[in-house]
Amino acid sequence: MSRRWPGDRQRFTLAHELGHRLLSGRLRGGIDEENACDRFAGAFLAPRSSVQFLLGKERLKIEWQELLKLKHEFGLSMLGWLMRARQCEIITDAVYTKQIKQFSARGWRKKEPGPPLAEESSQFFELFVWRAPGEGCITPSKAAELLGIPLIILQKKRLIEQHDDAPQ
Ligand SMILES: [Zn+2]
Repeated sequence: MSRRWPGDRQRFTLAHELGHRLLSGRLRGGIDEENACDRFAGAFLAPRSSVQFLLGKERLKIEWQELLKLKHEFGLSMLGWLMRARQCEIITDAVYTKQIKQFSARGWRKKEPGPPLAEESSQFFELFVWRAPGEGCITPSKAAELLGIPLIILQKKRLIEQHDDAPQ
């Protein structure tokens, strides 16, 4: 997984993959698995009860500031929230289409407005990547790539650690 993806994209991708694990081979004929996994991911990250509680039963428009707040609260993109609003029948197809057009016109489908959601971080992932070159599992350059840092920085950090370990 790319470390440069915003957190909401990482979370959606992971939830979508979880959907495959759970739904593969269990869907009725005619149901597209990719669509089903997208739907699953949205519902997993923003359950219907929360969507209805936070957006209300029926809306004629949802402000982008609301979508931004919800994105940061739930880790689902603003566009994802708009889709959930339609799926939960809070907005009509016509309202959804109108808002999506505004999103596109403002370039928000490529990059959503406001501060991006921080990427997910896994301490265990980094722990194992730091350990791996020392055990000969991967090369230092592969470790640097996985950590998303330049090789020179990795080498400097490893050098500092070695100095710290050295007997005084
Ligand atoms: Zn898929």
